[in-house]
Amino acid sequence: MKLIIFGPPGAGKGTLAQELQSRLGVPHLDMGGLLREEIERGSEVGKLVSFYISQGKLAPDEEVFEVLRQRLGQAEGYILDGFPRTTAQAEMLERVSPPDIVLNLVVPEEVIVKRLTARRLCRNCGAIYNLVSLPPAREGVCDRCGGELYQREDDRPEIVRERLRVYREQTEPVLQYYRKKGVVREVEGAESKEETLNRALKLLGL
Ligand code: AMP
Repeated sequence: MKLIIFGPPGAGKGTLAQELQSRLGVPHLDMGGLLREEIERGSEVGKLVSFYISQGKLAPDEEVFEVLRQRLGQAEGYILDGFPRTTAQAEMLERVSPPDIVLNLVVPEEVIVKRLTARRLCRNCGAIYNLVSLPPAREGVCDRCGGELYQREDDRPEIVRERLRVYREQTEPVLQYYRKKGVVREVEGAESKEETLNRALKLLGL
């Protein structure tokens, strides 16, 4: 299955994609995570995109797509999270490997701002926590692997506001592109990740 998890930053796309990965048996490709890996490796693309990420702006389409294309390879299926974020990116994906379904994760904006500023990630395995709704058992330590938890630079309130503005202006129109193709399914984000997963599985007929 080729699946896109769509929605604003902080809607819970990454959490849902991680949960769906084991059920669907296809790779989860987290575009923001792939770009952060490039930055850590100090690659040319990494150097280019780090400025955009730190400002909460979108990195250039061509470079982002090139990183994704290498990972897509010959994959039979995928769960994409954080891509496409512009209509131009959607068109690029369409030429290479179009999605079967786009799950639009709907969450109110005030919930998002609260969530993003409380989000913590594991430096080692990428597991996602939330200090309010999904805290780790031990402060600052990953339950899954014992790795160190950290806050993303771009989860600071002023950058979060910019990311939401960019979402409304550049990314939301992508939904129209997929609506015309008839592949969009709406899923309302629930308080608990289990409930959101159940709603998504039902929509996917699983
Ligand atoms: P995320 O982890 O999905 O919130 O992405 C973090 C940041 O990476 C975004 O704010 C953008 O700066 C950059 N980014 C991630 N995905 C894309 C994309 N598809 N196109 C352009 N920039 C992206």
